[in-house]
Amino acid sequence: MAASLDISGDFPILARQVNGQPLTYLDSAATTQKPQAVIDAIRHYYERRNANVHRAAHALAEEATAAMEDARAKVAALVGAGDARELIFTRGATEGINLVAAGLTDRLGPGDEVLITELEHHSNIVPWQMLCQRSGAALVACRVTATGEIDLSDFHAKLRPRTKLVAIGHVSNALGTVNPVAALIEAAHAQGALALIDGAQAVQHLDVDVGRLGCDFYAFSAHKLFGPTGIGALYGRAALLEELPPYQGGGEMIEHVSIERTIYNQPPYKFEAGTPNIAGAVGFGAAADYLAGLPRQALRDREAALVSQAVSRLKQIPGLRMVGEPRERVSVVSFLVDGGHPHDFGTLLDQQGIAVRTGHHCAMPLMERLGVPGTIRASFALYNSPADVERLVAGVEKAIEFV
Ligand code: PMP
Repeated sequence: MAASLDISGDFPILARQVNGQPLTYLDSAATTQKPQAVIDAIRHYYERRNANVHRAAHALAEEATAAMEDARAKVAALVGAGDARELIFTRGATEGINLVAAGLTDRLGPGDEVLITELEHHSNIVPWQMLCQRSGAALVACRVTATGEIDLSDFHAKLRPRTKLVAIGHVSNALGTVNPVAALIEAAHAQGALALIDGAQAVQHLDVDVGRLGCDFYAFSAHKLFGPTGIGALYGRAALLEELPPYQGGGEMIEHVSIERTIYNQPPYKFEAGTPNIAGAVGFGAAADYLAGLPRQALRDREAALVSQAVSRLKQIPGLRMVGEPRERVSVVSFLVDGGHPHDFGTLLDQQGIAVRTGHHCAMPLMERLGVPGTIRASFALYNSPADVERLVAGVEKAIEFV
């Protein structure tokens, strides 16, 4: 089974050496590596099609526009958005969340609440703090259990009529926890609140269908799913995108401009001021194609087996403890070793060619809640293999001798 499911050869960077050792890349939660197909699509775009979009007075401009809109349709299909007009290109998950936070400013006021959780990435905390500062609303955070799961009774206690928006990560980047977002969205709607899902870590590892989830907004980034950096997408329900004010003003987002006033373009263009990241969108579309062409379920089963293997093998190391043991998790294993700072382990593993991430993982409130300064995080993607797990385990054992 492993041979036919080994896709690592599609990713040229995985063949290189780091510090004189073969690269073992276990930092895909930070960013995934890119397959040749994505690299080629971006190169082909610049070599053959480059022009500015939506001003189609010539052939190249028409081709570039078609390439970008084709990519929009592919990315929309990847997350089950029924209509590509519900898919806004952004710089990434962060910008998508900020776009919604900015747009909701006038809808919220004193007495209203935004409900998040302690599990969130800073990208799904800080924009809401800023929204609350602007609007006078209050930010409320649902507690997380010691195993790293959302405390559901606390969530339901804190979800009340004054909650106007619930914003939750689909998958935790720090612990890999898969949150029961469908049920939480339903509960939010039952209280009359909007629901935004931060899907930055989810789309590569789960079948996301925004229609089935029923969320109002879903934000994600291309670079976490084999696409380029600097591009992402925000799904928004059509009726809400009609109502939401634009995020930025400029070219592309207008229907008509006079000095006195502007008539805005239709969504999604209303939210895409300025020349977009066309090559990025093309690369994002190629990543969606690449994902669609993979035996995803078989690869995910294989990845899940790697995560289980990593957990059970690492636990055998004396002095090593897991941080967070959620019942449902994907991709991520977070741990600490007695007597050693996570950063020292990061350096000692890097010397062996093993790339992991150490620190607070942009989730400081979670670290505080769990009482840890940070963690050592190994995160797996569809291109990793059982040998990568064994290299990690051997690498940690060797690092322990040095700390
Ligand atoms: N949310 C989560 C859960 C993430 O892991 C990340 C990226 N680490 C983000 C949001 C932000 O994504 P980006 O930096 O691509 O905008």
